[in-house]
Amino acid sequence: MTDFPDGMVWLVGAGPGDPELLSRKAERLIGSATVVFYDALVGPDIVAAIPAGVRRVPVGKRSGRHSKSQETIDRLLVVAAMAGERVVRLKGGDPAIFGRATEELDACRAAGVPVSICPGITAASAAAASLGRSLTLRGLARRLTFVTAHARAGEMLALDWAALADPAATLAIYMGKAAAGEIAQGLLGAGLAPETSVALVENASLPNERRIVTRLDLLPLAARAGLGDGPALLLIGQAVDGDAGALRTSAATEAALPRL
Ligand code: SAH
Repeated sequence: MTDFPDGMVWLVGAGPGDPELLSRKAERLIGSATVVFYDALVGPDIVAAIPAGVRRVPVGKRSGRHSKSQETIDRLLVVAAMAGERVVRLKGGDPAIFGRATEELDACRAAGVPVSICPGITAASAAAASLGRSLTLRGLARRLTFVTAHARAGEMLALDWAALADPAATLAIYMGKAAAGEIAQGLLGAGLAPETSVALVENASLPNERRIVTRLDLLPLAARAGLGDGPALLLIGQAVDGDAGALRTSAATEAALPRL
């Protein structure tokens, strides 16, 4: 394959989990690799479909359970490529969105290893698709912000709440489940209305997907009570208002619950 010579690394987006959301290019690169290093977020059916002749190496990271450090992963990619392997680094969603792609690109380039990116469908797109909503609304949600709510170990979440609390924007928050309380407080404190719509989508595109639509002041409760331990994306803003198929906290429940 001309775009995948021996000694090369491809950072490949696996999408949100559903194998049908893998691109044809990603599938071809996986099929022509000699080794695939994959993350914990790569869908199980995608991992299972890696051809038998291709070596698969889990390097999975889930928050709190880092099985390999980023430096170790960088080194593994470079060492495999320099040994003449065709290396796929398979990552959940899109490699260039909260995916530590820069470290891996830099490590390859510093070692003179050719490296390219194959994009994937990011979790925010999959979550919106599952909700049957658009991430943008003509005239009403003109801005779409991808933000991570993951703080480094021992550090507080330092987000610019005033900049994020925009009623004419949609916020797509990655790694936000554990920080749901801080997020709601930060946005409410910066003036976003308590009734602003919030959708939580866990395991988007997978058979065990869960969707909850609620309001901003109930976000902490919904995140605590309604989600399991899968990856979850938070979407905030009027674009995600109302999803017939999602679990919706009822008006009566909402009236009875303590406000933040
Ligand atoms: N590169 C990935 C994001 C990696 S950060 C992408 O483009 O999607 C990891 C976070 O992504 C998770 O904490 C979660 O917020 C989100 N995420 C990844 N896969 C998901 C899925 N199937 N459903 C919901 N959220 C997901």
